[in-house]
Amino acid sequence: MTAAPLAGDPIAAALREEALRIAQTIIKTRGRAPMLAVVASADESAKMYAEKIRKDAAKCEITVRIVPFAADITNARAVELLDSLAADPEIDAILLQTPLPASVDAAALADRIPAGRDVDGASLASAGSAALGRRGARFPATAAAVLEIVRRSNIKIAGSRAVVLGRSAVVGRPAAFGLLTMDATVTVAHSKTKDIINITKEADIVVAAIGKPAFVDESWIKPGALVVDVGIHRLTDAARVRELFINDPARVAAFEQKGSVVVGDCHPNVAGVAGMLTPVPGGVGPVTSAILLKNAALAAAGGVSLN
Ligand code: NAP
Repeated sequence: MTAAPLAGDPIAAALREEALRIAQTIIKTRGRAPMLAVVASADESAKMYAEKIRKDAAKCEITVRIVPFAADITNARAVELLDSLAADPEIDAILLQTPLPASVDAAALADRIPAGRDVDGASLASAGSAALGRRGARFPATAAAVLEIVRRSNIKIAGSRAVVLGRSAVVGRPAAFGLLTMDATVTVAHSKTKDIINITKEADIVVAAIGKPAFVDESWIKPGALVVDVGIHRLTDAARVRELFINDPARVAAFEQKGSVVVGDCHPNVAGVAGMLTPVPGGVGPVTSAILLKNAALAAAGGVSLN
């Protein structure tokens, strides 16, 4: 069996289209575009990521205000800045990019984001709503992307067996709660789980979020299962890349040209067993970015009829 690729790009495009439609309704009703505040460290990679969000948001007619935190910002000043964003009527949505400077208590700061503006499901209140299966709960964007992909795969989720590999606060746990709310029977596996391969092999749906490149191989997967690969790793070791992509000369050629290749938590041979598999890159990643934009538009829509 060769897995059908479950590409993220078309799902991301549909979500961005939905975000644009909501934003345009808001512009008509309120006379201004939805506004997303992106709070980030002032270092280069955080700035680049925030600029990328701004560029993508502009295509959905969402305005982005980037709020950089200096490396030496005090926790008190960070709280003051966050509270001023939370109280600003011009700001509809807030994204706290991590990692924040070490001086800042990032979790406590996230808890200060008002629920309606919490586009990345970062606060304790959002996490609680997601865990309890409340309608409209905001999930962390990566977990929400996993759920969106599973939902749009058209497999029967109710009654299926799902195994989530990983229990982090931003991916594994919320993805597991979401699948449970979608009526799957869910097992969460982690680094202390015994007999993990036999557990995973029973699953109709596998979410791989363990942060280890190409770790999950074909022996873990039930034939025909839906596999969502959340991992993102840049490999530069030529011998490792040639070994992984022994059956994919195009991928090796691309590596030789660029000097690196991006892989997920799943070994490429999973594609030979799974029924559907998200590619890396181009699977969960683009859907995650699009979810943030749709959530920003939805946050701005509070109180505005979208019909
Ligand atoms: P994380 O915080 O490092 O958590 C990894 C989880 O995997 C932990 O719960 C850990 O168990 C578990 N684990 C580690 N080794 C394991 C093993 N051998 N067997 C079973 N479980 C094991 O990672 P994360 O933030 O959840 O991210 C997971 C992956 O997703 C990473 O590759 C990351 O780069 C990627 N990611 C992608 C996106 C995206 O948009 N596509 C966004 C965020 C993250 P313990 O709890 O027992 O330590």
